[in-house]
Amino acid sequence: MDNFDVGPASSRNVGGSGSGESGFLRVPARKTIAAVILCDEPCSYSGHFTGGGMEPHTLSGCRWCSVGLARKDRVVYCVMELESRSRYLFDIAPHTHHTIELYAADEGGYRGLIFHFSKADGRINGRLEARFANRFKGVELLPASLEIGQCLTEMWGRRGRSVQISAGI
Ligand SMILES: [Zn+2]
Repeated sequence: MDNFDVGPASSRNVGGSGSGESGFLRVPARKTIAAVILCDEPCSYSGHFTGGGMEPHTLSGCRWCSVGLARKDRVVYCVMELESRSRYLFDIAPHTHHTIELYAADEGGYRGLIFHFSKADGRINGRLEARFANRFKGVELLPASLEIGQCLTEMWGRRGRSVQISAGI
């Protein structure tokens, strides 16, 4: 399955509203994004919502803690966006994860589940909503998941950030 690309460049971000950080799927204000989950299990980390978007909490001397910003639990999946067939990391809040988790419990796992993602009220800062669509037919044909923890560690490490990433939630 070599014909599936990692979505590295912000220009290829589906939403086009990315912060320039590569590799993350962005859901725009007024578009529904269909994506299939590739990972067997998501990862989690602790972040801070800053003016520039979500930044990871760093293990020592976190600049966002030092200015009193609250820490938020974040959950990261690997998905394939169905229109572009590109793989992305997908960084979401726990409430969206909990929606996905309920279906995963019913369906016997995360991998292969297709969801439609959209922003509530068509606002870019609106709550991210996940609606279960169906299960991908031929799950065995899907590309492998990215190694989520490794991708995040490398991405943030390049910017000098040391971040605690946990497998699972
Ligand atoms: Zn912090």
